[in-house]
Amino acid sequence: MSTHAPRLDETHDPAVQSWVESANDPATDFPIQNLPIAAYEAQHDGHSHAHYATIIGDQVLDVSMLVEAGALGRERDEEDLAEALQMPHAFGLLRFPELRRQLRRIIHRFLRADTVAGQSVRRLRSKVLRPLADTTLIEPVAIFNYTDFYASIHHATTVGAMFRPDNPLLPNYKWVPIGYHGRASSIVVSGADIRRPNGQSKADDAPAPSFGPSRMLDYELEVGCVVGPGNLLGTPVSIQNAREHIAGLCLVNDWSARDFQKWEYQPLGPFLAKNFATTISPCLVTLEALEPFRCPAYRRPAGDPAPLPHLLDETDQALGGFDLTLEVSLQSKQMAAQGLPPIRLSTGNAFRDMYWTFAQMLTHHTSNGCNLQPGDLLASGTVSGPTPDSRGCLLELTWDGPGKPRKPIALPTGETRTFLADGDTLILRGYAQREGFRRIGFGECRGTILPAT
Ligand code: CA
Repeated sequence: MSTHAPRLDETHDPAVQSWVESANDPATDFPIQNLPIAAYEAQHDGHSHAHYATIIGDQVLDVSMLVEAGALGRERDEEDLAEALQMPHAFGLLRFPELRRQLRRIIHRFLRADTVAGQSVRRLRSKVLRPLADTTLIEPVAIFNYTDFYASIHHATTVGAMFRPDNPLLPNYKWVPIGYHGRASSIVVSGADIRRPNGQSKADDAPAPSFGPSRMLDYELEVGCVVGPGNLLGTPVSIQNAREHIAGLCLVNDWSARDFQKWEYQPLGPFLAKNFATTISPCLVTLEALEPFRCPAYRRPAGDPAPLPHLLDETDQALGGFDLTLEVSLQSKQMAAQGLPPIRLSTGNAFRDMYWTFAQMLTHHTSNGCNLQPGDLLASGTVSGPTPDSRGCLLELTWDGPGKPRKPIALPTGETRTFLADGDTLILRGYAQREGFRRIGFGECRGTILPAT
């Protein structure tokens, strides 16, 4: 096997079906080949407890219950796994990638349709599932730190052209994975309502700024990378080792108040325009599940500089990208009231053309000795492609060129949008598919805008 080949095993076999019937539906995001990390809150002993779980078809599989029932087996290393699973917030699975891979194989075996089940296993099967539709998922891991990058050169160029028509792409862009430290405390899980923020903004022709509700509330379609083992302060992660530090991916909506952003972003970058809320999808799709969908890093056009040596690795160049399809849709309150489905704002596979790979972002982040911790979230930055229908935010989608008024998006109710209105629901979706493999998905990353207080 070439060192550039994805790491595949029986858990990727597209022919395997599950005894959970809904997992065999070709349209599901969660076939037996996915098995994401998830969590939900269960009530017992008069308290709520976070249970570690995975999603299979339209069901939530309570992994904590599997562990309690001794279904993981009694081998010595399976005891290590059971112990790791006692750690809260899936911490053990982030810290120890080999245990995560082992658990994936065990859950896969438990869920296979062709696994012979005795009476006790059949009883267990009936106890560990609950419908996803009746379950509120919580953060799959505890996120204590959040960094947001800016890795789409198409996004950086288009947005740069709006703010700095003469100088859209700053000279450092092709050398440094640009990022800023976000705010982890305001990360919420899909389904949480988003309150329109108040803040300072200043119109170009106004003599002074004013304070009030954002009038340019936007979303940003992003992919998040959750850090696995992490590194000690002062000990950088090399580009060769970076892959082992990626536990998995989720979808991220970096809600943004463009009017606040424009007024505050210089000289230190985004602050209150971004930190009022960030929504993540509740399923962490593991690196193992994504192995078949790895692809080469973005091929830089002739004339662009090569990454500096500490950011350049042959395997990362061959396999550091992820071939994902990402979609954004919107449903206004009026559309919902009239029973109209959401309309699609954008779709595409621009994520494979990000200028930097997650391994490069992670290595860059630690290159000065900064320590990343298990569960830290590194978001990619807005995922935009070169064509207008693959732009990952309204700031770009409704832009019609320098000096021109914004071009509103028409909704089927006759309403129009240049930015988000109160009552709008914004939905991100993402999936990976490739000939010869089962399609796997991320589930939804959804939020509805509430009026400002
Ligand atoms: Ca962002």
